[in-house]
Amino acid sequence: MLDFHNLSVTAVLHKLKTNTNGLTPEIAEKRLIKHGLNSMPEAKPLSGLLIFLSQFNNALIYILLVTGALSLLIGAYKEAYVIFGAVIINVIIGFIQERKANQAISKLRNLVEHKALVLRDGQEIVIDSKQVTIGDIILIKAGNRMPADGRLIEAADLQVDEAGLTGESLPSNKKTAPVASGASLADRENMVYAGTMAVRGLGKAAVTATGVNTEIGKIAVMVKETHEEPTPLQKKLTKFSRLLGLVFIVVCIIIVLVGLCQGRGWHEMLITGVAVGVASIPEGLTVSVTVILAIGMRRILKKKALTRKLVAAETLGSTTVICTDKTGTLTEGKMHVAHIIIGENEFEIKTKGSRQDRQEAKAVSLALQAAMMCNDAVVENPLDELGSWRIIGSPTEAALLSAAIQSGLRKEDLLKIEPKIDELPFSSEHKYMLSLHEADENKYILYEKGASEILLAKAKSFYHHGELTPLDNQALAKLNSTYEKLTNRGLRVIGLARRVFSKKELFINDQGKIEWSSVDKDLDFIGFIAIKDPLRAEAKETIALAKQAGIRTVIITGDHKLTAKAIAEEIGIKVKAANIITGEELDTINDERLKKVVKMIDIYARVSPHHKLRIVKALKELGEVVAMTGDGINDSPALKAADIGISLGTGTDIAKETSDIVLLDNNFKTIVSTIRQGRIIFRNIRKVITYLISDSFSEIILIVGSLFFNTPLAILPAQILWINIVNDGLPHFSLAFEKGDDSIMQEKPIAKNENLLNKEMKVIIFGAGIMRDLFIFVLFYWLWRKTAGEIEYLRTLMFAILGVKSLMTIFSLRRFRASLWQYNPFSNRYLVAAVGASFLFLLAGIYWRPLQLILGTTDLNLPAWAVVFAVSTLSIVLIEMVKKYFIIHPSYKS
Ligand code: ADP
Ligand code: MG
Repeated sequence: MLDFHNLSVTAVLHKLKTNTNGLTPEIAEKRLIKHGLNSMPEAKPLSGLLIFLSQFNNALIYILLVTGALSLLIGAYKEAYVIFGAVIINVIIGFIQERKANQAISKLRNLVEHKALVLRDGQEIVIDSKQVTIGDIILIKAGNRMPADGRLIEAADLQVDEAGLTGESLPSNKKTAPVASGASLADRENMVYAGTMAVRGLGKAAVTATGVNTEIGKIAVMVKETHEEPTPLQKKLTKFSRLLGLVFIVVCIIIVLVGLCQGRGWHEMLITGVAVGVASIPEGLTVSVTVILAIGMRRILKKKALTRKLVAAETLGSTTVICTDKTGTLTEGKMHVAHIIIGENEFEIKTKGSRQDRQEAKAVSLALQAAMMCNDAVVENPLDELGSWRIIGSPTEAALLSAAIQSGLRKEDLLKIEPKIDELPFSSEHKYMLSLHEADENKYILYEKGASEILLAKAKSFYHHGELTPLDNQALAKLNSTYEKLTNRGLRVIGLARRVFSKKELFINDQGKIEWSSVDKDLDFIGFIAIKDPLRAEAKETIALAKQAGIRTVIITGDHKLTAKAIAEEIGIKVKAANIITGEELDTINDERLKKVVKMIDIYARVSPHHKLRIVKALKELGEVVAMTGDGINDSPALKAADIGISLGTGTDIAKETSDIVLLDNNFKTIVSTIRQGRIIFRNIRKVITYLISDSFSEIILIVGSLFFNTPLAILPAQILWINIVNDGLPHFSLAFEKGDDSIMQEKPIAKNENLLNKEMKVIIFGAGIMRDLFIFVLFYWLWRKTAGEIEYLRTLMFAILGVKSLMTIFSLRRFRASLWQYNPFSNRYLVAAVGASFLFLLAGIYWRPLQLILGTTDLNLPAWAVVFAVSTLSIVLIEMVKKYFIIHPSYKS
């Protein structure tokens, strides 16, 4: 490998056969073919074998294996085979489902696209970072990840966080001068490495290594298997199944002891114990939850949001407050210049040659010139037609640049007359940008654009009728009132200023950096440029929807208070003065006080990223579940602290990587749709639990009943397994596909620490379920007394009842808070198909000779089927009654 760090910039460029304009597209293509794509070996999903083996690590399987072994011991071979068969089926189903879910999840993770900004033939363009090749000149900006290893050729205040590579926790200060040969990675201050993150400043680097040849590629940390931590819910469920297992082992032991005391045989009691064991545990519940989460994530992706962490999918449903950006999220972020205001007069953007008062025209042109000079946006395809230009950069700067170009200004020409010396890039912290230019050998010109009040505070004169005039208090008041009028209309108002000064004034500090404060004062305020950013068409209804769902929307913006207020009112948030607070005011109150006011604040205006963290913390302390958007480099602490950190698709890599969800289309509506999906996920999990536990209960009551009433077992272990695995399997997985309905967004958010088993589920499982199960047992007991000796037939009847009732009641369980006739029970196609298939399996279990032998069933006659359907219908009626009287119109309300 060549060493680049001890060479000079020129030597490096020479060695890499490139130049400061970057490669030409043709050469880049050739090099890509030669060196390969700039990509790492993909993170491997969990291996199949591991997933397969993990299926055995499950309380249910342990119980089955132990009971199977016991059956073998006592010579109950048929039972043993059935049990081992059930283990195998269960493991295979679990394996297939979980692997599918895992693949879906890791595919999602790999969807995060990485873009790189490079110079090709002198043009800045955005490419997929895979396309970066040796000799490419990459442009580095704070907040972005290095796409490849490179040698710096320019560095302006550049700091890079290399902790992931070197373990150095402090960001490394970068420069371009050669470093002694043999310096360690951490000391090569003129190199940047793939995967590290620029946290400050700007830079350019020539790519020296790509893909697996990069330092990080060599370590190959990416090849590690990816493993998603189980979510709190998954952990709760595992614990829940273990508890169930434990309880039922104890119950089993008691039952066996009771039976033995009654003088029953060992053999019979062991079989009974086995039956209780297999009945007790809801098979497939944990896998089901993984599947539901994976399907939820896929649906969320369809809505244009990417869930980066599984846990987000389930937390979403509990969101109570959305703290959203205004710009680009509530608005379209497609900005254009609407007005240019000099003094008190408003101007259209006049194209060259049109008539305008000459003096004023000069000032308008000066404003646009300042907007163009003090601007980091660039046109990616300047050779194409004007209408089809793609501008890289922030929407604000893009709007300003395109207005200036339209008026006939050309940046290259301006820069020829006034070459650029340095700049202070825009940041949301200080809200302005500076650009320093050389006017002649004695003079510099400083252009400034930013939040108007900040510029006005530093101004000493302004343009009045095209003339530079001292800014007295009266004039200032007038300008402020113009400013207020504009912001009141919801416009984003950017102030423009400049200053011409003698070179002596510029103060350079010890580190060779410009002391901006030495010259950023006594400005000539040129005027305002008002930018219109249209509201997103769906913003208003979405806010209303969120409100109806018990979710408060709070706007956090760097923009002016009145602009924010106008926009908020336009989308239906009514704001009084007491509901708005500015960053400046936030700084004057302490956290205790903030906790008090945070409840009624709807708009945070002129805030800086660090305020966001305070806001999140205050809200969280009040017990709110907070979703917070962010895109900038300084937003990551707030994104991390929020329950759901949401980064914008156009945001920095740092923001994306600390967030739980990436909003691919930046749209506020997507946040609300995502929350809706989160609620659906939670609901579906609850449906599955209710369904599976209800069945377990029925089986246990039948067995315990037989024991206490001294009858033969009402249902056999093999039959129970058939129902739990074959009969219930497909339908309960189909519940994962439930789409949700309008009622989802009419309910309050799901309480954060709400029990998995909530009141609704309890009344359905225990209220309706136990009544039904007792009825079924009484039926069994009565028939047994009447027809003693026909136990095989009676068991088949019980088998059919349990099977059919669970297939029929699942339609009632699709909605806990609506009666069966209030919705279309058959709208989930998967469920209908699954129930149909399961019913055929049930028939096979009853009528097909080989299965009859294994399951101990026998042909049922027509009257028996009448009983089966009558009981199943009764079961639906019971559930519907419980739903109606205890859930929909609860009279017991506590
Ligand atoms: P938000 O994204 O919430 O609208 P920003 O932090 O982007 O807020 O902007 C805050 C303020 O800074 C804006 O209202 C505007 O006055 C000013 N501003 C925004 N972008 C730029 C820029 N590129 N250059 C100079 N000033 C800007
Ligand atoms: Mg912004």
